[in-house]
Amino acid sequence: MTFTIIVHGGAGAVDPSSLETRRQGCLAAAQAGLRILAAGGLALDAVQAAVVALEDNPLFNAGTGSTLNREGLVETDAAIMDGSNLRAGAVAAVSGIHNPIQLARAVMEHSPHVLLAGEGAYVFAKHHGVATCNPDELIVPAQRNHWHEKHGTVGAVALDTHGRLASATSTGGVFDKLPGRIGDTPLIGCGTYANLQAAVSCTGLGEDITRTTLARHAAYLVEQGMMVAEAAARAISEFSAATGSEAGLILVDRSGRTAHARNTSNMPVCAMHADGHTDLQS
Ligand code: ASP
Repeated sequence: MTFTIIVHGGAGAVDPSSLETRRQGCLAAAQAGLRILAAGGLALDAVQAAVVALEDNPLFNAGTGSTLNREGLVETDAAIMDGSNLRAGAVAAVSGIHNPIQLARAVMEHSPHVLLAGEGAYVFAKHHGVATCNPDELIVPAQRNHWHEKHGTVGAVALDTHGRLASATSTGGVFDKLPGRIGDTPLIGCGTYANLQAAVSCTGLGEDITRTTLARHAAYLVEQGMMVAEAAARAISEFSAATGSEAGLILVDRSGRTAHARNTSNMPVCAMHADGHTDLQS
């Protein structure tokens, strides 16, 4: 069996001078995931490791470096999904969590629920040994200064040597959002989805991604027999036509074919394959 991983660093507008460091951040995250896959590990663990690496990188809008809401606070969203059994875990509008994707995984593993939000998610983290922090620790000076108005949600999708697909996405959401706002990222089928045929992670304006259930739609196109590149492009062009909004997505199928599509000017992406082939794009 082959294995593969593809990660993205978000489709928002960014300072062009940061493009190369964002690409390098995606490369490091893909390498973290690939090491797990190469050792015969699970796609689920690989996408989680890749997203943790991106959450810990302050350049990206997830975990440390998350964008601020209207009150100047960080509230994060994240989701993870195992395509082999449709198990999923997600957290929404949660503060004080270093790695929201780890909390999403804990929701999947240790609760009967798919999505926990706000204070309840924070208390759950405390009970299950997921690292909590002072919410201010996630705010980096660039965000405090409103250096970027929007930038980089992060995501990863992978196929492992067992033939399992998985998806993970994490975000600080959109700049100046209302407190309590929840985007597409933690909503299964909207920003994050995986099943036996495909795994998808989306980025872009969450309200429009939610309205169009973009991740599920892209997976559906693969299920209908479309090749991944065509499915990714079709999903984004239908999204554009329906909403006039901006988004990007990454996709992997059960054969390990990867693709990405966007209607924005940038979306750093890194795909790494079992044969050592690496594809790094902005
Ligand atoms: N999709 C994210 C949200 O709306 C934002 C992004 O991808 O940049 O929360």
